[in-house]
Amino acid sequence: MDTYKNLIAGQWVDGVQFAPNINPSNTGEVIGLFARADGGAVDAAAEAARAALPGWSAAGPQMRHNVLDAAGNLIMARREELGRLLSREEGKTLPEGIGEVTRAAQIFKFFAGEALRLAGEMLPSVRAGIDVMIERQPVGVVGLITPWNFPIAIPAWKAAPALACGNCVLLKPAELTPGCAWEIANILKQSGCPDGVFNLVMGEGSVAGARMVAHPGIDAISFTGSIATGRDIAVQCAQTHKRVQLEMGGKNPMLVLDDADLDAAVDACVNGAFFSTGQRCTASSRLIVTDAAHDAFVDKLAAATDRLIVGDALNPDTHIGPVVDQNQLTQNLSYIALAREEGCEVTGGGEVDGPGFFQRPAIFLGASNQMRISREEIFGPCASVIRVADYEEGLAVANDSEFGLSAGICTASLRCANHFRRHAKAGMVMVNLPTAGVDYHVPFGGTKRSSCGPREQGAYAREFYTVVKTSYWSP
Ligand code: NAD
Repeated sequence: MDTYKNLIAGQWVDGVQFAPNINPSNTGEVIGLFARADGGAVDAAAEAARAALPGWSAAGPQMRHNVLDAAGNLIMARREELGRLLSREEGKTLPEGIGEVTRAAQIFKFFAGEALRLAGEMLPSVRAGIDVMIERQPVGVVGLITPWNFPIAIPAWKAAPALACGNCVLLKPAELTPGCAWEIANILKQSGCPDGVFNLVMGEGSVAGARMVAHPGIDAISFTGSIATGRDIAVQCAQTHKRVQLEMGGKNPMLVLDDADLDAAVDACVNGAFFSTGQRCTASSRLIVTDAAHDAFVDKLAAATDRLIVGDALNPDTHIGPVVDQNQLTQNLSYIALAREEGCEVTGGGEVDGPGFFQRPAIFLGASNQMRISREEIFGPCASVIRVADYEEGLAVANDSEFGLSAGICTASLRCANHFRRHAKAGMVMVNLPTAGVDYHVPFGGTKRSSCGPREQGAYAREFYTVVKTSYWSP
């Protein structure tokens, strides 16, 4: 059995123990044994990052560009093999896995360019003869804590801008999916990233993650995960004076109007709600449909969902891979039972026999927006269908949520699409597109309880990973 160690100060280091990484399509298959870091390993990684910071922050844009560009090239060259690893450890279908790896490579290439574009500003002071210079400097040592559902894209979209801006990094990936993060660490090492600049500390959230959040030598934490964990991290970061960025859950609405192209709307809803097994923070989990379109929409949605093949992530016929683990499957099934208790008619949703955690996508018909199934994030292939009278009621229902990550509308009406774009209380709006599926060169993030702090991705990522310094110059 292969073992995978943590990367601290450029050395591969044993953990206090090793934990198996299990394939959710086939629980008999162990992908490898991965080190689990304790608090001491986090301390050592933070010390290594602190020691490497003066060199890396002064290394200049060409050096940072070269490392990130080389990492992007290596990831791209290995995208099929790494996509297979991703599908085996997380359960996305192979095309989805390869797509996510390709995205990680593109992110590294984009931020290789951003390393060269970290411009400041120079402007005259209001006092005659004095100039003002505004520049961006690294925050320092940053801790990155990532979830299991995008095991290579999220580590990439945090690590690449952090490094591009001259910071040193500790990455703690989710317990369930350390394999892709280990590959990123290995690839960065092969790409010439100096010792200590990027450190990998795989381990439990309550041990390694908690130590990172509490550590006095870490200046900032970027976290993606659940609301409960994010809220605790924010409180602790306030107490230890750390900059914090949180990306959390969603209960994303897709509003389908009478005038929508129903086939296209159904495609967008099936994709948004069920692809990647519904395990996307941007998944369309509330399908809000106006009265005149409702019945035809539901017929087409049920038929399209029925055609989806659930199975092993590596099987080329599979549309929907397994749920990530037994806990998530149990949670999904309990929400399906709750949907019936709350009065919905449920189509699909059953557990599928097999060596993994397979579940058919579930549609909750006759749902209201007040039901728990429409308010709480399930994080599985489950969607409520909520009937509304018209666009105005649909918009009000879409906005009636504690989350505000992504919101979509399917319509042929320019007036409604434009009004929705302006008034949807979400960080991202999709018109005639699934709520999930975003670009890497533009900002990503939400409103309300979905996000906290500056946006991720694109040029906006620098808002979190740099500190602005203002200097006044008198001749
Ligand atoms: P989670 O909160 O359980 O874990 C996320 C990470 O936090 C893991 O690495 C975990 O080990 C770590 N962690 C757990 N307890 C910790 C603690 N006390 N201190 C420090 N770190 C700790 O979330 P998850 O189950 O891995 O991911 C699913 C959640 O992530 C969903 O709610 C989903 O919506 C959200 N998510 C959000 C986005 C987004 O960008 N908005 C993207 C993907 C996933």
